[in-house]
Amino acid sequence: MSISEKLARERRARLAAERLLEQKKRELYAANTQLSRHARALSDQIVVQRQEAESLKGRTVQVLHDLERVTSQAELAERRLWEAIETIEDGFAVFDGEARLVSANQAYLALFGAGGVRLGDSYFRVLEVLSQGIADLAREDAQDWQHEMTTRLGRDVIEPKVVRLADGRHIRFHDRRGEVGDLVSMAQDITAAMEREAELEEARAKAEAASRAKSAFLANMSHEIRTPMNGVVGMAELLCETALTEEQRLFAETIRSSGEALLVIINDVLDYSKIEAEKMRLYPEPFDLERCLHEVMLLLQPLAREKGLRLVVDFDIFLPTRFIADPGRMRQILTNLIGNAVKFTPAGHVLARVVGLELAGGDYELHVTVEDTGIGIAPDQIEHIFGEFNQVEDQSNRKFEGTGLGLAITRQLVGLMGGAIWVESEVGHGSCFGFRLVLSPAEHTAAGTGPERPVLLKNALIVDEILINRVILQRQLETYGLAVSSCRNATEALAALPVQGPFDVILVDQDMPATDGPDLAAALRMVGDAAPILFLSSEPDSLADRRCDATSVLAKPILRSQLLRVLQDLSYPKSRLPAPAEPSAPEAAAGRPMRVLAAEDNRTNQLVFRKMVADCDMELQFAGNGREAVELWRSFRPDLVFMDISMPEMDGREAARAIRAAEASSGLSRVPIVALTAHAMDADRVSILEAGIDHYLTKPLKKAEIVAKIAAFCPGDARTAVPPAAGTVPA
Ligand code: ADP
Repeated sequence: MSISEKLARERRARLAAERLLEQKKRELYAANTQLSRHARALSDQIVVQRQEAESLKGRTVQVLHDLERVTSQAELAERRLWEAIETIEDGFAVFDGEARLVSANQAYLALFGAGGVRLGDSYFRVLEVLSQGIADLAREDAQDWQHEMTTRLGRDVIEPKVVRLADGRHIRFHDRRGEVGDLVSMAQDITAAMEREAELEEARAKAEAASRAKSAFLANMSHEIRTPMNGVVGMAELLCETALTEEQRLFAETIRSSGEALLVIINDVLDYSKIEAEKMRLYPEPFDLERCLHEVMLLLQPLAREKGLRLVVDFDIFLPTRFIADPGRMRQILTNLIGNAVKFTPAGHVLARVVGLELAGGDYELHVTVEDTGIGIAPDQIEHIFGEFNQVEDQSNRKFEGTGLGLAITRQLVGLMGGAIWVESEVGHGSCFGFRLVLSPAEHTAAGTGPERPVLLKNALIVDEILINRVILQRQLETYGLAVSSCRNATEALAALPVQGPFDVILVDQDMPATDGPDLAAALRMVGDAAPILFLSSEPDSLADRRCDATSVLAKPILRSQLLRVLQDLSYPKSRLPAPAEPSAPEAAAGRPMRVLAAEDNRTNQLVFRKMVADCDMELQFAGNGREAVELWRSFRPDLVFMDISMPEMDGREAARAIRAAEASSGLSRVPIVALTAHAMDADRVSILEAGIDHYLTKPLKKAEIVAKIAAFCPGDARTAVPPAAGTVPA
């Protein structure tokens, strides 16, 4: 090989080596560059990680710090909670899901005595310790008791359980399940509350006994006072019927009226106490309100007449008259209001008005007003007078007697009936008391429907000086289809005759100034008028001494039904022909005498009774007590028994029961028994009727009431016991 070839080969080799070197250099450079990039990235990463580590370290320190703080707060809260739980007097304990005691306050642990129960003990151990002499199981078996106590824990709602301890304390266990199955138990000492409850129970029993004693005292007081009052009032009444000098009559009348006034006060006080004690009961029954109103008016008529007062009734002609309510209490309300009106009215009139409207259900809303022209009541006294024992306090009122209880009772009674009372008044001009009530009608007969016998009269003339009387009467007559003319006095009447007459009936007020009723009647006959004349009189008896031409006399205030009957009689003259012979009178002497037994232990009352029935044709025997009454019932076989209730040995109720039992066993017919009672309480009324007694009369006895019962129960085979004049009072 040539040198040049060698050189060329060497040059080529060198060039190749140089190229390789160059490439390796480039590769080295690239590798270096990459290496330095990696190194930079790595160092960046290290810096970041270092920073993160720093921050993590800071956070850990913070967390540790927070943890420390929270732990100490939790420890404080727990300590406080336990301090609080320890300070409460009730026991507190927590059992875990396995029923192990995990915590309890001292009060809880103390229940079981020193060392009795410890933390870690089971609930069953707790019950075991309790049943070993700590709880008073009152003879209940310990196992049963523990069983009952544990089974109650299984219920959804765990009822509290009161456990009586042997030392007398009462512990109420309240147990509740927690969300994680724990059982929280509270043991509350309720001994003081139980003692208070027992004391309250005792106090309540005492109060009830006192209230019963008060009622019994009232009933007895009423009885004790009424029994001698019966003697006083009854004897005075009988004394007044004998021949007396003027002075003696005054004394006897005073005794009688004072006795009656005293009875009114006793009754008021009794009624008020009854209402206060919520013992007042209403006994609703069908009754005639219009008749009741008239009866009250008639009772007050003598007093009104003495003062020259006119009593007027205006009962809405479109209203039924029979309603369902307690008639006795309704009469009491009306008597109080109308009685006051008469008492506090020196001159003028007292007008009782009943208006009303039918409600959707068929009941009626009634407005009853009592209007007077009396002394009136000052506005500042209006509320005051409805209070108990309250009267208007001024000079003009001093002279009137009264207890001041009437309106208090009236307001309460109206309230009991579901109504309301009010008053409007003007001093010196008069007062108007009113009350509103909703009552059911007694029968479903429409108001104002025509009578069974229509009135056939066509035209009537009213002669009355008082406008209000004319207006009311005119309205009544017009509803019966009459055309009515009215005038104020005899002169006007005589003048009206030829112009507006002839009339089918002429209604004349008896008591007119100048020419009175009888004189006008005589004048009418003189001028040849033969129309029937009806006298309207507030004192019908006074007409007995006068020759008069009246066809009929109507007592004022006029009862609608009475007016209607008279108009019907006038429409059908035959009905005025002599009626079929009156039963009784002619045969009065025939038959055996009626037998009446009166059981009454008080000798004065026996005497009063004997005198009251002196006019009756009957055989009367007295029994001094219930036992004698039963014996006499056997031997005497009475047709009627009057039975006093309070008697020694055997009281009236027992005697009535004995008679009823004997009748039943021997198949005898039932003898009517009428109780004579001084008891005015409702409870007595019930017990009296339950004893088999049919009726009762309250003392002091009234002659008319006794005679009415005798007349009502006189048997068919006996001769009439009651003379016709005495027997007119309805039974
Ligand atoms: P009493 O009539 O027994 O005094 P009341 O309670 O019935 O008791 O009445 C209380 C008072 O109301 C009466 O004393 C009287 O002052 C007054 N008063 C009641 N009704 C009337 C009346 N119609 N006119 C004037 N004053 C009356």
